[in-house]
Amino acid sequence: MSATIIDGKAFAATVREKVAAHVARLKSDHDITPGLAVVLVGEDPASQVYVRSKGKQTIEVGMNSYEHKLPADTSEAVLLDLIERLNADPEVHGILVQLPLPKHLDEDLVINSIAPAKDVDGFHISNVGLLGTGQKSMVPCTPLGCLMMLREHHGDLSGLEAVVIGRSNIVGKPMAQLLLGDSCTVTIAHSRTRDLPGVVRRADIVVAAVGRPEMVQGDWIKPGATVIDVGINRIDAPEKGTNEDGSVKTRLVGDCDFDSCAAVAGAITPVPGGVGPMTIACLLANTVTACCRDAGLPEPE
Ligand code: NDP
Repeated sequence: MSATIIDGKAFAATVREKVAAHVARLKSDHDITPGLAVVLVGEDPASQVYVRSKGKQTIEVGMNSYEHKLPADTSEAVLLDLIERLNADPEVHGILVQLPLPKHLDEDLVINSIAPAKDVDGFHISNVGLLGTGQKSMVPCTPLGCLMMLREHHGDLSGLEAVVIGRSNIVGKPMAQLLLGDSCTVTIAHSRTRDLPGVVRRADIVVAAVGRPEMVQGDWIKPGATVIDVGINRIDAPEKGTNEDGSVKTRLVGDCDFDSCAAVAGAITPVPGGVGPMTIACLLANTVTACCRDAGLPEPE
C-alpha cells in the first residue's frame, strides 16, 4: 500500500473542537446557545443510529439538541406543522429532517418547508440555487466534509481534474458544485456513463458516491490520485463468524475496493473513519454558522 490514509475521524475531532470553542464564545460573550432540532419519522434502524449519534455530538460540543421522534404513520400535515413551529422557534437555529422519509410523505415538500436559514442539511431549493450560483448558502454536510478533507490534503484545488461518481441531490451534485467552485475541471459520472473506468482514470480527484460495495477498482485509478470514498455499504463478513441468532456477521465497506485503490492512489479515505465522521462534524459547524447569521455575528471560518 502506498497511499496516505486521510483520517476523517481525527480531522472531524479537530472540527468539533473548533465548533465547541465557538459555541463557548457565543455563550460567554452573547448569552446565545446554538440549538439543533432533528426530526425522525418512523423506525428505520440506520436512521435511528444516525439521529442518536447526531444528538450526542450536538450536546458534546455544548449546543442544545432537540429530538422529535414521530411514528411512521405521521401525516404530512402533522409533520409540516412541527416544522412550522421549529421555523418560528428562536431557540432552534438548525433543523434536520432525517431522510429517507416513509413513502407516503413528499420529501421535496417537507424539505422545502424548512426555513432556508435553518436548513443545516443544505437541501432546500433556495440553498441548492445559492450554491449553484456561487452565493452564500447552507452547504450539504457530506460534500462539505469531502471538500474540507481535499483542501486540507491538496491546498489549492484549482485546475485539478475531478470525477464525481454519482449524481444524487444530497451528495453527487453538490459535490460537483463545490469542486467547480474551487476551480476543478469536473466530470459527473453515473449509471449511464460509458467506459466508467476510463473516465475515472483521468481524475486527479475521485469522489465515489454510488452505494455499490467496492465497485471502484485500483486499475481505474490514476497513480497518485486522491480517492474520497463516500459509500457506506454493509456486506456479509463470514470470516467474523455468526451472531447469537445464527446470522452471518457483517462489516462496512465503501464504494472503492480499498486495498487495490490504496496501492495506486496518492491518498484515500477509509470506510469507516473517512467521510462519515466528517459529515456529522459539518452538521454541527453548519448549525453554528446558522446561529451566527441569525444573530448578525461573524461566522466561523
Ligand atoms: P443514490 O442512490 O441517491 O445515488 C447513487 C448514484 O450512483 C446515482 O447517481 C446512480 O446513477 C449512481 N450509480 C449507481 N450505480 C452505478 C454504476 N454502476 N456506475 C456508475 N454510477 C452508478 O445514493 P447517495 O448519493 O444518497 O449515496 C451514495 C453512497 O454514499 C451510499 O453508499 C450512501 O450510503 C453513502 N452516503 C454516505 C454518507 C456519509 O456520511 N458518509 C452520506 C450520504 C450517503 P443514476 O443517477 O444514473 O441512477
